[in-house]
Amino acid sequence: MAAWYLARDTEILVDLDDAHKVLAQSGGSRLEMFFRRRLRDAIRAQLLDVQSVYLADSYTPGHLHGFVTLETPMPLMERLIWQAWLGCDLFRARADLMRAERGHRYPSLLILPAPVPVRAPDAICPCDGKHDTLTASAEGQCAPWVVYRGPSPWQCFGPPATKLSDGARVTLAPGWVSPGDIMRV
Ligand SMILES: [Zn+2]
Repeated sequence: MAAWYLARDTEILVDLDDAHKVLAQSGGSRLEMFFRRRLRDAIRAQLLDVQSVYLADSYTPGHLHGFVTLETPMPLMERLIWQAWLGCDLFRARADLMRAERGHRYPSLLILPAPVPVRAPDAICPCDGKHDTLTASAEGQCAPWVVYRGPSPWQCFGPPATKLSDGARVTLAPGWVSPGDIMRV
C-alpha cells in the first residue's frame, strides 16, 4: 500500500534524502543545515507563513519526507523554488520544475508507505515497496502512477549512461568542446 500526496497551494513537499548525513564542511546534518535552519531563517524573515511542519519516514531508512503547510496559498513556481531551497533532493526538485514548466498538473508530490496525520492522502495504491520508475507506468501496474506521476527525472533529462562513481573521466579545456568528448562513456 502507498499513500499519495499531491502538493496543494498551501504545501511545500520536500524529499529529504540522507537527512542525517553529516556535511564535511559545516559538521551539521543535511536535515539541520538544509531544512531546519533554512526554514527557521525564512520564518524569522517573515518570508514563509508556516502553519505546521511534519516529517514522515520514507521507504528508505534515513530518508525523510517533509510537509511544510502554509497559512496562505503560494504560487506554484514559488513553492517549487522553496522546495529546492529547503533541501529537497535536487534530481526531484529540478524534475518538478520541469514538469511544472511543461504544464503537468501535479508537478510536486510525495508517495509514502502509509498515510500521515497531516491530512488524508489524495490517492491510495496497492503497491508494496518503492515504485519502480521504469515499470510502474509502462506496465500499467499502478493507476495513480499513470494519472499523477508525469515524467521522471530520467525522462526529463536522460538516464545516466554510467554511475557517477565510474566511467571515464574526460577533461574538458576552455574553447570548443568536441561532440566526441561529450559523448564518451
Ligand atoms: Zn502504486
